[in-house]
Amino acid sequence: VSAATLIEAGERVSVRGLYIHIPFCFHKCHYCDFYSIVDTRDRQQSFVERLISELAAFDSMRDEQVETIFIGGGTPTLLQPSLLSRLLGEVATRRIALPGAEFTVEANPETVTDEVAEVLAAGGVNRVSVGAQSFDARHLKTLERWHDPSNVERSLTRLRRSGIHNINLDLICAIPGQTLEDAAADLERAIALDPTHLSVYTLIYEPNTPLHVRLMQNAVVPVDEETEAAMFEATIDRLAAAGYEHYEVSNWSKPGAACRHNLLYWTNADWWALGPSAAGHVRGTRWKNSPRLGEYIDSDGFALITDVESLNGDRRAGETLMLRLRLIEGIPLGELDVLLVSSSVTRREAIGRQIALGHLEQASGQLRLTRAGLLVADDVFMDLL
Ligand code: SF4
Repeated sequence: VSAATLIEAGERVSVRGLYIHIPFCFHKCHYCDFYSIVDTRDRQQSFVERLISELAAFDSMRDEQVETIFIGGGTPTLLQPSLLSRLLGEVATRRIALPGAEFTVEANPETVTDEVAEVLAAGGVNRVSVGAQSFDARHLKTLERWHDPSNVERSLTRLRRSGIHNINLDLICAIPGQTLEDAAADLERAIALDPTHLSVYTLIYEPNTPLHVRLMQNAVVPVDEETEAAMFEATIDRLAAAGYEHYEVSNWSKPGAACRHNLLYWTNADWWALGPSAAGHVRGTRWKNSPRLGEYIDSDGFALITDVESLNGDRRAGETLMLRLRLIEGIPLGELDVLLVSSSVTRREAIGRQIALGHLEQASGQLRLTRAGLLVADDVFMDLL
């Protein structure tokens, strides 16, 4: 079954965003559960040709131009510059994006050469998300993340020189062995580079990753909960002082620079997904493309899909509520009332319970997480779901 079955015959696809997955990395980081394979470059060409054919399938069925495009991975900037240029050229020629659309590409600091930065800028990319993770070589080693921390600054210089100034830096905190001071030092290094956006995620030990195996073998000691919470609180305070707006549990931006593509995810809007393992959402149906590269290259039209889930009624209300509460502004009380109509009594009770615990509050016409709730956000969401 391909993603084409998600829409009725003859129907046009009307989505606000487009996600494209590039499944190549030069090394598998030990904490990562994204679909990527270690690339020896031999399949890049056939992959890009296939991706362009899937883009053509999307183009022939789309109704409108999209507001955002996000090319993620994997490591999109690992594509040979000529192939990256060919892909971006196809997106531009087909006028997939609205004028003024946000166009993001994820990059590993090692891969941002002058040539790659020029290709991105010439191809219409106006936002780059750089995976810094940490500036401390010891902690990068724990993550088995292979890049030289000094290349983060170099990649930002190259991107800015090419004309791309909207730049996100990804950081990870609560890496085994990382102290409160280490996390603060990473944050200072990131702030000094003056990105428009920062994502700071707490390390998650995803099942089926080498880091999880090491955890099970007691080969790594996780950062204790109190230190982890203190890192998060220090991050909130320091970034506020540095002029960043905290707009989502793990995301901060300079005023006006919130990630428009990710906001589509958090507001449960519709976006299409191209490439192996890419996940999309259309009118309450979520799906994931098959993660097998060989199968993808040998297929045509839209990608084959593995998972499809139609969220309706109570389930959809729960997911929407959880996503909206990830936003610091929360959910307007009017929208909450609509959601609660299709919500179970248990969920309404859970909201009351979390308000009583001081984790949620009603303020300025919104239901939102309190500061105490932010520190235990995953527990709050679990209760609400
Ligand atoms: S570079 Fe990114 S996608 Fe690739 S293995 Fe590392 S964390 Fe995963």
